[in-house]
Amino acid sequence: MNEISLVSVVIPVFNEELNLDELITRCLSACRSVKLPFEIILVDDGSADQSAKKITDAAKSHSGEIIGVFLNRNYGQHAAVMAGFSEARGDIIITLDADLQNPPEEIPKLVAKTSEGFDVVGSVRMARQDSFFRRIASFLINKAVQKHTGVMMHDYGCMLRAYRRNIVKAMLQCHERSTFIPVLANTFARNTTEIEVAHSKRLAGDSKYSLWKLVNLQFDLMTSMTTFPLRLLSLLGAVISATGVGFGFFLLIMRLIYGSDWAVQGVFTLFAILFIFIGAQFVGMGLLGEYIGRIYHDVRARPRYFIESVVGR
Ligand code: UDP
Ligand code: MG
Repeated sequence: MNEISLVSVVIPVFNEELNLDELITRCLSACRSVKLPFEIILVDDGSADQSAKKITDAAKSHSGEIIGVFLNRNYGQHAAVMAGFSEARGDIIITLDADLQNPPEEIPKLVAKTSEGFDVVGSVRMARQDSFFRRIASFLINKAVQKHTGVMMHDYGCMLRAYRRNIVKAMLQCHERSTFIPVLANTFARNTTEIEVAHSKRLAGDSKYSLWKLVNLQFDLMTSMTTFPLRLLSLLGAVISATGVGFGFFLLIMRLIYGSDWAVQGVFTLFAILFIFIGAQFVGMGLLGEYIGRIYHDVRARPRYFIESVVGR
């Protein structure tokens, strides 16, 4: 199970012309130091700058070692990585960002850890070089993901990760549009571990995530994991209705004790009734949500299981 004949490194590239030269040099030397055959797959995610040309040149001058995959337009980081996966033939597949925030020098460590038999090797960023706001957001997200996947990992934001071939194969069979690869991988992994990796500032250029893209990514993450928010509607509805009923009883009792002058001649009673119906509406929406959630799961059509191996035939 642990023989490795090829290591693939998948790197999404979107307008990273300023980083590509150093990225390629450092990746090549890191991969060569592993002493295993390797391929570096650079996926150009519809860049508008010189990235595509630089990738083409690199693929020509290091043929066999560097492979360029060109998407016809910008589809986003995770889609680009998926495209890279579909071209990767390695037994271990490593993902990495093109901006050199994750040093390629960590690749040998990831390979070593994966060959110990782990399906997924994540990484924890030491001395993280991101803004305070980004760190808080990541912290909350990590907590939610841990709850959902049941896999304890500290850092989902870091793309410097290694996956075994069978995990990548499983991910490629998930046809949904919204994917968040580290989480998706963990839903298929049997054993996972983490290593600590260095983290630096973006080498050049700006983050390719605008605030809007970032918000979109968080929604991708949430909806890809769970339909629980739909169920919250039902819960909310039930609470509102119950409050309405409680309020109604309270009014009734007060009416019997203090007479009809109390509570403005029944105006408050209307509120109690209103609450009950508003709550009922929410319950109805929640119920619709339950169906939609199930439709969503079926539409994604993820395989129900993956057979790892069959023995004795
Ligand atoms: N990226 C991509 N397509 C996009 C956005 C980003 O391929 O639409 C790539 C980008 O080139 C980089 C990686 O995804 O290699 C991470 O992007 P970035 O460093 O901008 O994200 P941040 O570190 O700010 O989260
Ligand atoms: Mg970055």
